[in-house]
Amino acid sequence: RLAADIFGVILFSALIAGVVLNTVFLVREIRRNERQDSFLNAVTHELKTPIASIRLYLETLQRHPVDEAQRQKFYGIMRSDTDRLLNTVETVLKAGELGQRREQQRARIELHPLVADCIQTVLRRHHLSPETIELAEVPGNVRLYVMGNAEDLRTAVMNLLDNAVKYSPNGVHIVCRLGIERYTWVVLSITDTGLGIPPPELKRIFKRFYRAPANDPVKIKGTGLGLFLVRTIARQHGGSVRATSEGTGKGSTMLLRLPLAIGNKMTTDSAST
Ligand code: ADP
Repeated sequence: RLAADIFGVILFSALIAGVVLNTVFLVREIRRNERQDSFLNAVTHELKTPIASIRLYLETLQRHPVDEAQRQKFYGIMRSDTDRLLNTVETVLKAGELGQRREQQRARIELHPLVADCIQTVLRRHHLSPETIELAEVPGNVRLYVMGNAEDLRTAVMNLLDNAVKYSPNGVHIVCRLGIERYTWVVLSITDTGLGIPPPELKRIFKRFYRAPANDPVKIKGTGLGLFLVRTIARQHGGSVRATSEGTGKGSTMLLRLPLAIGNKMTTDSAST
């Protein structure tokens, strides 16, 4: 009788565990599908909007007489629409490619010039004045090297900078710093004064297709792939990325941590962050 009771309890517990597990898997699946649906909507929008805009300006140029100033203005708009298109296509392709890639070409890369170069591209892309994005000198003027793939590292830094601009709708002020942590890591911090990230979202934002609802994804466009790409690239380099924020409206800091290349000449302790 006791054995039968114990058996009954075990059977019942197994049944409950089964139901709970099934529900968890189901909810996860639904969430994943929802994320993929909103990703598809976002990508479709990100492709259709600039194409529609380019077409409109081309038609206007074809059919209506416009003066030289207007013509230049239209060319400028079409140029930034084309950049936006390219950016979306590159992000989607890169996300697919990184997942499949087995081997990577690596070289010794100095990070400060790479970040400086990315900043120039972002300033141009968003028509910002130079003082809106600061790059601090490395303490002690130490040259910081990592072993890595320059193109991938550029993609990671560009995504972080693009986000810092995009999620600062009320004015851009970004500070980038490079430093050494525990003589092992190079840390790039990118601090903005934008919308900020609520604490529960700080980890989720690195998931594929995830877009934080608090940051008004309807108005600020994106695919939810940028930070996923950054995390994949950081991990492929033996590093990591994380976000900190004082909360909504108080800006955010992204910290990209990469292994310091062996042979990096450290002349001073002051390079530690
Ligand atoms: P996307 O920008 O295309 O939505 P990302 O993967 O780059 O996708 O970012 C995921 C989410 O993280 C964004 O939707 C946004 O909510 C949040 N986020 C990323 N960077 C920032 C930032 N600098 N400030 C505030 N929120 C950010």
